[in-house]
Amino acid sequence: MRPQLGTRNAEPGTPFGLSQAVARAAESALAGRGIAPEAALELAGSAPLDELLFAAGRVREAHFGNRLNCCSILSVKTGRCSEDCKFCAQSGHYPTEVQATDLLDDAAVRRAAQEARDNRASALGLVSSGCGPLGPHFEAYCARLEAVRDEGLTVHASLGVIDAAGAKRLAALGVKAYNHNLETARSFFGQVCTTHSYDDRLATLEALRQAGIARCCGGIFGLGESWAQRIELGAELQRLGVERVPINFLNPIPGTPFESRPRLPAREALRIVAIFRLMLPKALIQVCGGRELVLGHLQPLAFAAGATGVILGNYLTTKGRPADEDLVMFRDLGLELVTETTTTD
Ligand code: SF4
Repeated sequence: MRPQLGTRNAEPGTPFGLSQAVARAAESALAGRGIAPEAALELAGSAPLDELLFAAGRVREAHFGNRLNCCSILSVKTGRCSEDCKFCAQSGHYPTEVQATDLLDDAAVRRAAQEARDNRASALGLVSSGCGPLGPHFEAYCARLEAVRDEGLTVHASLGVIDAAGAKRLAALGVKAYNHNLETARSFFGQVCTTHSYDDRLATLEALRQAGIARCCGGIFGLGESWAQRIELGAELQRLGVERVPINFLNPIPGTPFESRPRLPAREALRIVAIFRLMLPKALIQVCGGRELVLGHLQPLAFAAGATGVILGNYLTTKGRPADEDLVMFRDLGLELVTETTTTD
């Protein structure tokens, strides 16, 4: 049985009485080296959660201090997606209750940017349903991104597949980060999506890298993947050297094939964040969709587990909690919101 929070198996001679495996992992991650997949898998299955939180929290502090990067997102086009991602409320393949919209107009985007600024988000990401490419609609999206920039916010985007020319255009326009999640391990991807491939996603990430746009690339957990597959995703992110890693937890949406998947236990979700912090010590790790549902009253422990940010405000198709509550939580934890940065060095 997996050790629970508070059941420590201290070993004399290691710092703070940590078990040897956790102490070794902490040492590596504190030095900026992500732990190897084999070590991560061992820790995932055997390390006491309180030790993982202690180690991951120290690693976060070493590389990011008490600073948090929080952004907000806006769905500029919702629903009617041609893809069949089995967790997604926006897929046109499933009878969900999402209200589809066409591309929002300029004024709506500006209002959202002002609200994000009032909520003290450092960036606003414009997100479109669909896998792209945007073809003749691309310039209309660029105009919305310019509106965010003109409102004084850092511009992020998530518009699906993008090629080298598109990535260059976004970089010139001022897009600092682009979200394109791998979602899960390659070995599990076929059970999540069949309408595009893992390699399609990797090609977009490579175009972004070449254009100098920070890659915001993570996944969604609780789909039925194994721990080995979670670590496989972490290893792929290590290989890619992504700068930002959103961690989402499944919020089962009625009508989707994953509507009956059991909710991830909060302690397991914290374990995922901590293991990813030890694997990716210098990446920004943001806890995103499903945070409130899965972590519940344990949300403050996400930062002990190594998270360096959250999404402020609402998600794409589900409500987040009021930003005011998050701001109070940050204040009480002694965490400070900052404007855009990647790591402390
Ligand atoms: S995750 Fe993205 S690509 Fe997949 S169905 Fe949803 S909107 Fe479409």
